[in-house]
Amino acid sequence: MKLITYLENGREKVGALTADEASVRPLPFADMTAAIEAGRDALVPAGEPVALKDVTLLAPIPRPRQDVICLGMNYLAHAKEAAQYDKEAFQQEKPVAVYFSKRVTEAVPPEGYIDSHPGLVRRLDYEAELAVIIGKTAKDVPAEKAGDYVFGYTVLNDVSARDVQTGHKQWYFGKGLDGFTPMGPCILTADEVPFPPALDISCRVNGETRQHARTDELITSIADTIAELSSGMTLLPGTIIATGTPAGVGMGMDPPVFLKPGDVVECEIEKIGLLRNTVK
Ligand code: MG
Repeated sequence: MKLITYLENGREKVGALTADEASVRPLPFADMTAAIEAGRDALVPAGEPVALKDVTLLAPIPRPRQDVICLGMNYLAHAKEAAQYDKEAFQQEKPVAVYFSKRVTEAVPPEGYIDSHPGLVRRLDYEAELAVIIGKTAKDVPAEKAGDYVFGYTVLNDVSARDVQTGHKQWYFGKGLDGFTPMGPCILTADEVPFPPALDISCRVNGETRQHARTDELITSIADTIAELSSGMTLLPGTIIATGTPAGVGMGMDPPVFLKPGDVVECEIEKIGLLRNTVK
């Protein structure tokens, strides 16, 4: 099942795509977080299908109730390119997961704009990522049970201001600016793919492929991430975990190339869909 959040006649709704993905059937929940809390068995569409062309797509979770939990340098080739760009900021001494938080007051919808923050940001970059959505309260979950706690998956662009990110001791400011979290187009429910998902992930800038990998190439797996985090931190339904980005970001190019207004960034994951945004 593919779930979306959308505007119909100015009203925000959640719904499930029809099998042909041309229409949406509304679900009886106030928002996506409520639908997630209700659980997959409760996701029974009620109401007539509405053609997608007659609604406006929003990010599947437009206003997450907590910041996104992110993994840094979680694909081997990306960890190497990041260390080449800025050894002090990115080189890892120990093979442990790098966790950081990404503030998201309002996620950017498909076809929405990435704010380039002129005056503050000079080195704007993209990061295509698989985002995991937690489905039920997770505390002390063993890795072999972690799949039971996953509600679904979406595509997330972990937009990053490299100069702001590395200009401070922590990444929080450079990762959490307004307009830095495009997400969507849908949540693919976890029952649609084997766990862990092994899906093609890619990113194109102005049509040129920059990133291309598979989502089972993570250094710290989804199961180990949920097990480790939940060993000390309660993960609530609706929690979003961005699992890291593959090699091929702008700071990894020689010389580095950064985004500018007008650039079109397309992040795509097999079976989930295409997230396209323009830099303004
Ligand atoms: Mg990232």
